[in-house]
Amino acid sequence: MTNATSAKRLEINGIVQGVGFRPFIYQLAKQHGLNGEVANTATGVTLVLEGPEPRIQQFIDDLPRRKPPLAHIVDVVDQPVPVSGFTSFAIVKSRSSATRATLISPDVMVCADCLAEMRDPSDRRFGYPFINCTNCGPRYTIIDDIPYDRPKTSMRHFIMCHRCQAEYDDPDNRRFHAQPNACPDCGPHVTLCRPDGAVVVTADPIGETAARIMSGRIAAVKGLGGFHLAVDATNETAVARLRRRKHREEKPLALMCADMDRIRAIAQVSPAEEELLVSIQRPIVLLEKKEATPIAAGVSPRNRFFGVMLPYTPLHHLLLDSGFDALVMTSANLSEEPIAIDNQEAFYRLADIADDFLIHDRDIYLRSDDSIVRHDYGHVRPIRRSRGYVPVPVFLKNEVPSILACGAELKSTVCLTRGRQAFVSQHIGDLENRSTDDFFRLTIDHLRRILDINPRVVACDLHPDYLSTRYAKSLDGVSLVEVQHHHAHIAACLAENKMDGPVIGLAFDGTGLGTDNTIWGGEVLVADLNGFVRAAHLESVPMPGAAAAIKEPWRMAVSHLRATFDEGYQQLDVPLWRGIDSRQVDVIVHMIARGLNSPLTSSLGRLFDAVAALVGLRARVAFEGQAAMELEMIADDDATGRYDARWEENGDGPIRIRTAPIVRGVVEDLVAGRPPAQISTRFHNTLIVLFDDLCRHLRSTTGIDRVALSGGVFQNRRLLTGLGTALVQSGFDLLTHRQVPANDGGLSLGQAIVAAHQSAGQ
Ligand code: ZN
Ligand code: ZN
Ligand code: FE
Repeated sequence: MTNATSAKRLEINGIVQGVGFRPFIYQLAKQHGLNGEVANTATGVTLVLEGPEPRIQQFIDDLPRRKPPLAHIVDVVDQPVPVSGFTSFAIVKSRSSATRATLISPDVMVCADCLAEMRDPSDRRFGYPFINCTNCGPRYTIIDDIPYDRPKTSMRHFIMCHRCQAEYDDPDNRRFHAQPNACPDCGPHVTLCRPDGAVVVTADPIGETAARIMSGRIAAVKGLGGFHLAVDATNETAVARLRRRKHREEKPLALMCADMDRIRAIAQVSPAEEELLVSIQRPIVLLEKKEATPIAAGVSPRNRFFGVMLPYTPLHHLLLDSGFDALVMTSANLSEEPIAIDNQEAFYRLADIADDFLIHDRDIYLRSDDSIVRHDYGHVRPIRRSRGYVPVPVFLKNEVPSILACGAELKSTVCLTRGRQAFVSQHIGDLENRSTDDFFRLTIDHLRRILDINPRVVACDLHPDYLSTRYAKSLDGVSLVEVQHHHAHIAACLAENKMDGPVIGLAFDGTGLGTDNTIWGGEVLVADLNGFVRAAHLESVPMPGAAAAIKEPWRMAVSHLRATFDEGYQQLDVPLWRGIDSRQVDVIVHMIARGLNSPLTSSLGRLFDAVAALVGLRARVAFEGQAAMELEMIADDDATGRYDARWEENGDGPIRIRTAPIVRGVVEDLVAGRPPAQISTRFHNTLIVLFDDLCRHLRSTTGIDRVALSGGVFQNRRLLTGLGTALVQSGFDLLTHRQVPANDGGLSLGQAIVAAHQSAGQ
């Protein structure tokens, strides 16, 4: 009976459109000698298979093993159906209304097949910088609307030549229904321009650009999700010029290397890190620097790491062919503005930065920065989740209503939910100026359109002055849920781990408005997705000058010294006072004493800042968290010891964690001449022991044996690894971030899941 014909219907959900999935099904069916048909549906594809039962089963077994590289199968449901007598296997045309809820692929790196063709002098796409196929190339950044078909992408302006069209129409071809399919005869082209927009006449714009970069010039290069600024990473003068022109004085600049050998020449690469570097997402991976490298010191000053990526577009490969050790490839923007994507906009905004412009005529509809990840404490840790990862959703434990979560202010993202999927947007940036606000609104509109989500519930931060909060409150006809910042951090960690809580949540960051109107950031919350209790927090100290204290960590040092010693601290022999005018100190002390513009904060990020300033690392910073980061960087692995740490129970109120004994310990070490590197290690050790103890105490009072770690402070590898290890040794079930950033980039996910629970409970 095994040769009797039977029939099955398969519903496959996931990222299965625009990734060569139907041709794959077609070919797999032919290989197994099965008849039937395949079509796109609202959530994926549906297919009917007819043939002998064992062959159908073999087909189902082969599906996940042989799927196209970009396909992401979420689930497969099969059921027997009556045999209808198909005589062949066919791809049925998609009905546009049926495809609106499907998943869209992110933009991914050029595949090996396309690269081989690009390198083959006999191929018609030899040297063509826009080569792509169903397995690779742009997706999210060129889609304007759904369904994902060429007329809805920025390829609509390019009419395929007959050879490209033939590939596009042929189910046996790698370019069957590859929407961005193109060739030199019919597709986009690159042009080299001067800053005034005039075309530089050359037969080889990419080679000419490379030669100019070689000579020390700065090029603006249009890529996949926006423009990069490129300079030769070994040229100290060029790097310094780029920093000066871009007003980016301190932040590390990303590097692009042609291959793994070149990366290994400049950085330590573990097998796990190599896996990340070569992954189809091609993120920037943070790698520990090697001692002596040809890379200019100005690329990543006062930092133990380089951010490095491999080329991901054909154009990058061609550019790197000129033999660079590495190119600096940094987002083309002025500091704090969104990355430039449009040609005219690039000329307008980058004319004073770039010497040369390598542009092309394929539009970018949605900007998407390079993603940044690192491998910490056994897992990939996203720092900035953008190109290559977005719009792959975070899959949730339970179905939720359609919600828009607007995020907070820094490292902003938004999140839209549908069913069991949470779509966290690409990195939008710091919502502090008009252009980022525009990009924020554009991203929401675009995501709503391509995901076809019409949210009835909108979530935002408690802070009334964030642009994201104001936007949320301006929307009509929706119910609004305000979510406390640190609750959202812990909820994000719960959501991506498919947990509901309750959990002991350690939410450590720089700033977030608390329910008592003080600024929180060293919080221990007993939380679930519905709510939280503030179980413990760092004792609050004044933040003299509010936002100014973030830019000038020495102010936080003064505040902590005053809280610790009351008086006499200005006579202490500590490096803090070097380079600070004593009159300035008097002003700050006066502000604190009189409570002038000095909101209280329990922030651990600010305590890091204070210690960094105390040991003389830096009195002022160029970006938020810089001092804290440098304090981590100098830590001496061989140092031992820690400071006194205490907490006080406080009736029914939250436990108050004393910071004074820690600050006193740091000062005593400084006065005794202990080097800052050892003090850094001792400071980290103190926090690890303190919070491990506190969690064990809370376990004894609440019975909760699960701990979630979230907030930007957990980008600190020493703290994440040290505290994580201690908690696991103490028998806790540990939840950490692996899909969304621990920093505020993950906050919108937490807001969405809290809003889902609170609106369901009403
Ligand atoms: Zn390809
Ligand atoms: Zn063509
Ligand atoms: Fe935060």
